[in-house]
Amino acid sequence: MALQHVAKNESSLDTPIMLPHRLRNDFPLAVITLVGGMALFVISPFAAYRFATGAMLHGVLDLLVVLAILAAVSFAWRTGNSRWPGVVLSILSVVFTCTTAILPDAVGLHWFYAALMASYLLMATSEASALMLAALTVLVLHGGAFHSRMHMLTFVTSALLVSLFAMVFRWRADAQHRQLELLATLDPLTGCSNRRAMDRELLIAVKAHARTRTPFALAMLDLDHFKIVNDKYGHEAGDQVLIELTRLLRMHTRHGDRLFRFGGEEFVLLLPGVDDALLFAVCDKLRRVVAESLNYAGHPVTLSIGVAALRPGEDWQSWLLRADKALYAAKQAGRNRVQVALPTDPGDAAPSA
Ligand code: GH3
Ligand code: MG
Ligand code: MG
Repeated sequence: MALQHVAKNESSLDTPIMLPHRLRNDFPLAVITLVGGMALFVISPFAAYRFATGAMLHGVLDLLVVLAILAAVSFAWRTGNSRWPGVVLSILSVVFTCTTAILPDAVGLHWFYAALMASYLLMATSEASALMLAALTVLVLHGGAFHSRMHMLTFVTSALLVSLFAMVFRWRADAQHRQLELLATLDPLTGCSNRRAMDRELLIAVKAHARTRTPFALAMLDLDHFKIVNDKYGHEAGDQVLIELTRLLRMHTRHGDRLFRFGGEEFVLLLPGVDDALLFAVCDKLRRVVAESLNYAGHPVTLSIGVAALRPGEDWQSWLLRADKALYAAKQAGRNRVQVALPTDPGDAAPSA
């Protein structure tokens, strides 16, 4: 029915991507680049200065840290994996500041706060807290970085406070991020997952099928003559019908089944574990429930369904297209019916990337 928007979004992950685009869309990578860049900017002149003034040990230490930062940042850019570069950068920053703080004539203690903040951005909160506590313990036990007990006490208290603030900030940012991700995948009217979530989950289903051979069925559902409900009773009434339809479908599907609003009055139902033998019975039960229970102002509202079982080696676009064609056939055959797509039906979407 309306498949012109079936895009291969996931393929964009594989294409060479311009730098600003990657920085905008990959927050951990942006933080790694920022922290790595700042560290290089701050440490490189120090390394040069140490060598120039004959402080070879400090100079070599600075140089090693610069090289390690470069390696971590370039690994993150090359592989798209930010986890280990984040951990390496955090540990390096904290160890570096502690070491320079302990060495005579060094001022690393002042950088400890910056290293602390960076580690709360780059690692899990628990990991950053563990790193911070380990570093504080070493500094206190060694004692060489402090010129008095009061200095040590002030430093430890302020470092703990900075960590607490960083932790609160991180928790809040993570919670907001999760909330935004959820909102971005939900249809506001019905509360169903939207098309964006569907694309992702169909791809996951196809991969699971390739791995485990679990059967999956995909049903495309479309209300019959829905335009008449809107035209006769208004858009609000139409909205209520869509909400009620969602409630009915949820009530009569299993926990693991996934319902998506594909757009307008079309829905997609992903049915894990439903094979060729069950396809028709499962969908026809839903069609019957809707025909018997869904109405507006006493007028029944019915549903047509096209359903397709996933074929081995098929991509999700082709699978969806076969279900859509079956839905079209159900409409052509008179509506309020289920049409099963044959495995031999062409699903002529472009081949997967
Ligand atoms: P068919 O049996 O061929 O599917 O006929 P139909 O009338 O259901 O299909 P058509 O594509 O002609 O019209 C779909 C209607 O769905 C038109 C549009 O006003 C309505 N619609 C789409 N989205 C919404 C929505 O969010 N709320 C409401 N109330 N109506 C919607
Ligand atoms: Mg319709
Ligand atoms: Mg439609």
